Amino acid sequence: MMEVNRINWSTADEETKKRILTRASMDISDQIPVVSEICANVSARGDQAVLEYTKQFDGVNLTAIEMRVTPEEYALGKAQVDPEVAAALRYAAKNIRAFHEAQKPQPMWMMEVDDGILAGEKVTPITDVALYVPRGKGSFPSVLLMLGTPAVVAGVERIVVLTPPNPEGKVDPAILFVADLLGITEMYKVGGAQAVAAAAYGTETIPKCAKILGPGNPYVTAAKRLLMGVIDPGIPAGPSEAIIVADGLATPYKVALDLLIEAEHGPDSASLLVTDSESLADAVLHDLEQLIATIKNPMRRAYVLEVLRRYGGIIVTKSVSDSIAFVNEYAPEHLEVMIQDPFSYLQSIVNAGEILLGEHTPITLCNFLLGPNAILPTGRHARTVSSVSLHDFLKRSSIGYVTEKALQRMAPYAVAMADVEGFETHGDAIRKRFINKSS
Ligand code: NAD
Repeated sequence: MMEVNRINWSTADEETKKRILTRASMDISDQIPVVSEICANVSARGDQAVLEYTKQFDGVNLTAIEMRVTPEEYALGKAQVDPEVAAALRYAAKNIRAFHEAQKPQPMWMMEVDDGILAGEKVTPITDVALYVPRGKGSFPSVLLMLGTPAVVAGVERIVVLTPPNPEGKVDPAILFVADLLGITEMYKVGGAQAVAAAAYGTETIPKCAKILGPGNPYVTAAKRLLMGVIDPGIPAGPSEAIIVADGLATPYKVALDLLIEAEHGPDSASLLVTDSESLADAVLHDLEQLIATIKNPMRRAYVLEVLRRYGGIIVTKSVSDSIAFVNEYAPEHLEVMIQDPFSYLQSIVNAGEILLGEHTPITLCNFLLGPNAILPTGRHARTVSSVSLHDFLKRSSIGYVTEKALQRMAPYAVAMADVEGFETHGDAIRKRFINKSS
């Protein structure tokens, strides 16, 4: 008999509740000392240090020139992509582009705050951004689609892709294919903490960037955390997590299938069914057992089993509204709503990185090709943070304009506020303007 958490939420003890709600966070304490050394070394010795770490951790001996992907490598990579994969990536790119185009804000707006007082905002792309595309346990062309598309649509001038070389010292063809689809031409074979440090400080070959975005292992995360003051590290993303919220009318087999999606990421993931129906819970458990037995890859099967008895499993509530209350408290990265008339619950769901409605919208679709961004906040950050989007590549500057007459009207108020805050020169900039003019 498979071991799966089955928790009645209304009677669960505080310790159990805390374990489920807290789930795993990425523990980077072991990586901090080695990553501090890597960052210091890259800052001091640039390319040379990066190349030594690439040799040590990726087992590949590159020269500084070989770090940059050449046009010939792009062409060769493109040609090697399986036609079916190429068609899938093209379709995904089209949907993801359409979605991110729709996120475009007004480039500028102005309003008259009061007579003669104009105020507004102007939106500008960040000039240089590094995109980290992981490659360790696998290759992730979808990550490049999710990062590169908003960067291109936002109009980032210099988009720099950093990705670890494969054991042959090359970049995987599907990554090159996606970069070519997006028109991204600057890519370096570098990974781990040394990639983050190179983008933060700049080396002879790798340009210094204002921001770095993209998921990675604990070395990448530790470097982002250590270099936070040097480079903007983007949204926090740790171990994956998903909730399927379902009522008694959901199809157990589909619920079971989708519960396994995020559970295959790793043993520290979380995947939860939240339901007010004991009979659905029973039926899902039955289907889960059968489905897990069919998972071919033993490593993935072991991950799924570990997830269901650790941070995942089944939460039974008293009502659909209690299920939604649990979701809002948990703030999951991914949420599937398999409740009758799911649109009617949309308004009440306030904390979730993504909300997928109905039985025909499995997380798989959003992770690869539905359109929205699949790089989402984890670890309850969905309470305050959104998925990666066009806005991660843009910033706003405030704009103001005041006529002389309006300034005269505002002067006494401005001086009063400057005085109460003890800012002499703030006040003088108003007072002395008028004194100088009349003297
Ligand atoms: P990675 O690119 O993050 O890490 C590989 C690099 O780690 C190597 O280049 C190497 O330099 C460095 N490294 C390895 N061992 C080291 C050591 N002992 N000391 C110092 N540095 C070392 O690839 P990964 O390891 O496969 O991790 C990718 C992570 O990203 C996974 O956790 C995966 O789940 C996650 N991911 C998340 C998403 C998402 O959308 N949230 C998508 C894809 C992947």
